[in-house]
Amino acid sequence: MIQLKKNQRDEIARHAERDYPYECCGLLLGSFEAGGLKSISEIYPISNAREEKAKRNRFLIRPVELLRGEQYASERGLDVIGFYHSHPDHPAVPSHYDLEHAWPVYSYIVVSVKSEAAGDLRSWEMESDRSTFTEEEILAVTQTVSLRRGGEASS
Ligand SMILES: [Zn+2]
Repeated sequence: MIQLKKNQRDEIARHAERDYPYECCGLLLGSFEAGGLKSISEIYPISNAREEKAKRNRFLIRPVELLRGEQYASERGLDVIGFYHSHPDHPAVPSHYDLEHAWPVYSYIVVSVKSEAAGDLRSWEMESDRSTFTEEEILAVTQTVSLRRGGEASS
């Protein structure tokens, strides 16, 4: 189970819409809690469609970018707990390519974008035998009082 705050969900959605029709991707920073719960503290965007390279990237995070993200996380006492990426005009279900490039334990959030509007957002974990992804429950958390007032303009 992964805990996702509403503003974090909006951040992922906005990133996905910004990079449409290309895939966006980024890191989920947070902590591994007791009982298999993951808690997201921060969304760490990586891709940007304005970079020519990102157009062909299919959820490809270069090692140097991952390293930078891990360093950023550790400076804040956080871990990389997963990844997110978008599926422009495709459902929020991991592809065969995603499976081939995944690691166990991490969460893989996939958000579907249709006609520039982010839709379904689902989280997945790869089975330890690497055979398939299993959907992971998302625990939606409302944000803090100070943020709640202006946080409704999502799409
Ligand atoms: Zn994918």
